[in-house]
Amino acid sequence: MKITFLGTGTSHGVPSIDCMINDFRSCPQGVCKLSETDPGHNRTRSSILVEWDGFSLLIDVSADFRQQVLRESVKKIDSVLITHGHADHVTGIPDIRSYTREKPVPLYGSEESVDMIRKSYSYVFEYPPCTGGGIPQLITNKVDSPFYLSDQKVIPVLVGHGDLKGCFGYRIGPLAYIPDMRTIDDENLKKLEGTEILVLNCLRREKEHPTHLILPQSVEFARRISPRRCYFIHMCHDIHYELDSRNIDPFMEFSRDGLKVEI
Ligand SMILES: [Zn+2]
Ligand SMILES: [Zn+2]
Ligand SMILES: [Zn+2]
Repeated sequence: MKITFLGTGTSHGVPSIDCMINDFRSCPQGVCKLSETDPGHNRTRSSILVEWDGFSLLIDVSADFRQQVLRESVKKIDSVLITHGHADHVTGIPDIRSYTREKPVPLYGSEESVDMIRKSYSYVFEYPPCTGGGIPQLITNKVDSPFYLSDQKVIPVLVGHGDLKGCFGYRIGPLAYIPDMRTIDDENLKKLEGTEILVLNCLRREKEHPTHLILPQSVEFARRISPRRCYFIHMCHDIHYELDSRNIDPFMEFSRDGLKVEI
């Protein structure tokens, strides 16, 4: 199994528009300015591509999807998983059309996520189709329990993320992917047992957030799961991957756009 980190940033992306507007004066560790010269600090919105046995699975269709697939030369997408319906995770959906020309692509998510997507992009899903075409051919599937994609079991992991009722992480064999999370119950925590590669929400260094884990909480959670390797994602401009790496365990690292991992 191969993972490609298409994006590792929080909803604002890094550099953030806010920091640019005030000439980077309020950027806590200078990361937004640094991102101009250091690509490791340039974070597009979070998404990964998971490939095995010639099967290509996209998790989330980020607001930077077009830029990400061009950068990584992604030639095909066989299936799409959606973690939740927030804009940073679904805004690339119209651009999926290029991958659905030969056959429709199935998209999986919670009932809430699928409903949010169908509402946001009603012109894609309503009948009759909009005049002029140019829309992605997607088959939406509402899921709440394990299912199989190309002989690989996919387990939705329900997590607490603000007011959402259907925000998922996903467990796929050795991999667990959780981009947005604040809480998790015991039943869902159990689904993460035996995870080898944990990809986990780590919003910022300090100051608790109502809907996301921040660094000390992400570290504690990763220790609890105890995977072989943990990659932090969904990071804002607070995280300087060199300076902050001093304060995490050796099995953890701050991911970066374009990083590839073989499992
Ligand atoms: Zn997000
Ligand atoms: Zn900044
Ligand atoms: Zn979110």
